[in-house]
Amino acid sequence: MKIAVIAGDGIGSEVVKEALKVLKTIGSKFNINYEVEEFPYGADYFLETGISIPQEAFTEWPKKFTAILFGAVGDPRVKPNDYAKEILLGIRTKLDLYVNLRPVKLLDKQYCPLKNKTEEDVNFVVVRENIEDIYINSGGNFKKGTKDEVAIENSLHTRKGVERVIRYAFEYANENKLSSVLMSDKSNAMVYVGDLWQRVFNEVAEEYPHIEKRHMYIDALHMELIRDPSQFEVIVTSNIFGDILTDSAAQIQGGMGLAASGNINPESTHFRGLYEPVHGSAPMIAGKNIANPIASILSLAMLLQDHGYKKEASIIQGAVKAVINKGKVTVDLGGNCSTSEIGDLVCQEIQNN
Ligand code: ATP
Repeated sequence: MKIAVIAGDGIGSEVVKEALKVLKTIGSKFNINYEVEEFPYGADYFLETGISIPQEAFTEWPKKFTAILFGAVGDPRVKPNDYAKEILLGIRTKLDLYVNLRPVKLLDKQYCPLKNKTEEDVNFVVVRENIEDIYINSGGNFKKGTKDEVAIENSLHTRKGVERVIRYAFEYANENKLSSVLMSDKSNAMVYVGDLWQRVFNEVAEEYPHIEKRHMYIDALHMELIRDPSQFEVIVTSNIFGDILTDSAAQIQGGMGLAASGNINPESTHFRGLYEPVHGSAPMIAGKNIANPIASILSLAMLLQDHGYKKEASIIQGAVKAVINKGKVTVDLGGNCSTSEIGDLVCQEIQNN
């Protein structure tokens, strides 16, 4: 494993530090051969140099590294935050990391805001398309600043883009012996885009007759997510719906501090992807050693899993669960542990495993 690390801004650097601690612990315990190179990209670097991220990250890194471990970017000193978009959306797009995989797993029922739900009820993944939709920065305005102002934002969906992410969702279900894939859209209102997603979903589903294909409109899905999350195994959806859905989903697994993600290109055999917590740089709580590092640590587990270190990934997940189950948590979960204490406790659990 050759890992490029961009810790980034705010709590990004604090949580990645703990993930790297965990990597060191698991690496030495199981003799994992890895190299880490840390890069300073983020607000400070941008303010000093005017560069968000050098072009070589897009051209050379996929050959040089096998993954990126990412914290978060975003800083109130820099507005608009184009530098942050150039870094994160730049890597996702230029490296064609078209799947955003977000596991939603409750580790301790006391952190679920839904009444009477247990660990068995909240355990699914969201496969979010990661490149297209409204994130392509296409649109414009007319008569800006006047009362006749018009603004247009284009949402782009390609046959190729829709097909490959839907196929990935079925492949994921297949590999993990799951019985259903649910596609969510708003095809009753977005007729053209919805029609494309519907047709492609039905076509790809035919290749997997043993997997149940389900559909829900995105608004209905949000209702069902709160009413009965146990019915979901794999949910596949477009970029913007996935963005919104996974923030809600993060809450039912205990909050942003616990939600991990992988930005991956399943076809790429050398470079696996970029792994990051779902949360942002949270400037309000940055620099206080109170951020929850679990999302970053679980993102590291996903990185290891994608390099074939399945046992090690599950040991990290087990260690995280053990720490949480002992009530050792940060302030976002009602505890009083610091960021670094949680990192240390996870490492201890791994050592004692
Ligand atoms: P973005 O604009 O990228 O969504 P943001 O900085 O506006 O990012 P987040 O950082 O995702 O928003 O989080 C919103 C709030 O959730 C934070 O202000 C913070 O209170 C809480 N939060 C997020 N991540 C964590 C964490 N790891 N530990 C504790 N609290 C967190």
